[in-house]
Amino acid sequence: MFYLYNALTRQKEELKPIKAGHIGLYNCGPTVYWFAHIGNWRSYIFSDTLRRTLEQSGFEVTQVVNITDVGHLVGDGDEGEDKMLVAMRREGKSAFDVARFYEEKFLIDSDLLNIQRASVYPRATEHIAEQIEMVKKLETNGFTYRTSDGIYFDTSKLENYGRLSGQKTEEKQAGVRVEMGEKKNASDFALWKFSPADSKREMEWESPWGVGFPGWHLECSAMSKKYLSVPFDIHTGGEDHIAVHHENEIAQTQGADGVLEANVWMHNAFLMVDGGKMSKSLGNVYTISELREKGIEPLAFRLFCLGAHYRAKLNFTFEAAQAAQNALDKLREIVRGWETPSEEICEDYGKRFLEAVRDDLNTPQALAIMWEMVGDEKCVSATKAGTLIEFDKIFGLELEKYIGKKIEIPAEVAELLKVREIARAEKNWSESDRLRDKIEELGFVVEDSSEGQKVKGK
Ligand code: AMP
Ligand code: ZN
Repeated sequence: MFYLYNALTRQKEELKPIKAGHIGLYNCGPTVYWFAHIGNWRSYIFSDTLRRTLEQSGFEVTQVVNITDVGHLVGDGDEGEDKMLVAMRREGKSAFDVARFYEEKFLIDSDLLNIQRASVYPRATEHIAEQIEMVKKLETNGFTYRTSDGIYFDTSKLENYGRLSGQKTEEKQAGVRVEMGEKKNASDFALWKFSPADSKREMEWESPWGVGFPGWHLECSAMSKKYLSVPFDIHTGGEDHIAVHHENEIAQTQGADGVLEANVWMHNAFLMVDGGKMSKSLGNVYTISELREKGIEPLAFRLFCLGAHYRAKLNFTFEAAQAAQNALDKLREIVRGWETPSEEICEDYGKRFLEAVRDDLNTPQALAIMWEMVGDEKCVSATKAGTLIEFDKIFGLELEKYIGKKIEIPAEVAELLKVREIARAEKNWSESDRLRDKIEELGFVVEDSSEGQKVKGK
């Protein structure tokens, strides 16, 4: 049994694949005009955990992650400045170069976090024809109207618009002021925006309606259809996408093809920093590189994310991240002392673990089961090692490479440690630091704790 929470039905449901043994999975991907931040990474760690759990349960997964490389507007409601143009000005590069640069950075960090590569990363700019095709279909089916700045989707024409967020068209985003312009309904949105008449945009394309660029919801409907065909099984994204982006994706696919885009809609809750929202002005929109500079490994951040259920808000602080780093270090140290993994697994733990992850990805519980297993004296270490390798197919913490790799301290390092202990007792800190560097050159890291010096392999 495999249960997932479906935002469409607002309940946990048993997973029923459209095609036996296969899952089509679409994750809203990065907008490549800046580095992905740790909040974004929470979202991709969640979708990677989902994919791993599905694969572990025997499904073959086709995973699509789109790359938003078209300039879109800063606000959700088709207003504000174009994000890609802002980045071009900031960096003095072409839109193309900005997009490729951040796409590459995205994939580097993704690998560092041990996120499995998707089956395909389609770029919005390479699927303009498919997007135009979709708008044409919507036009034929009577869902569009023209204003002076673009072609819009008329949400009042779609009977069940708002089914995902439970909002009616007229009460769209209650409390949020919507820039109406020439829109007929507050929830209507742009499918195609015209380039300004008096200037040339760097990113613009010909279309049957005039030169311009696609609205930002369009690429996901068009590309999910191309690579997964609709309806497909599961669509994911952050919770901020429920009210606007996903609602509009559903509307476009329904309007163009008369089907529900995806059967199950899953959303991760937001990552907060120091109890609040991340913001440029607070300087806390951290990236993976910034975490590394502060001694937090990408995999420790991954462990930190797994410690909370994906639907619960998670508060990032450097203390909490350090605690995750310490836990990862401790786990590595423990498994170094284990025997070579056996084929066997600790049955009871294996069963409980699978129940937890297949219950809407209950990773905090799965981690608790892992720690219980690690500390279980009744289980021999070779069996524990075999079990941990199975668990780690879902956690993705690369633990296998530490199992059984005892640290043998060479005589030369042991001697330096002895000398350093004397230097420390004499409070000769400069000598102690010099010896630490020397030990490091030999491939070992020394940490000073209340119990004395501790040595780790680099
Ligand atoms: P974007 O590049 O802004 O489209 O965001 C990429 C993904 O990250 C989307 O699924 C967003 O919903 C998600 N996301 C953005 N900010 C956060 C956050 N603070 N916590 C968790 N997910 C986020
Ligand atoms: Zn999307």
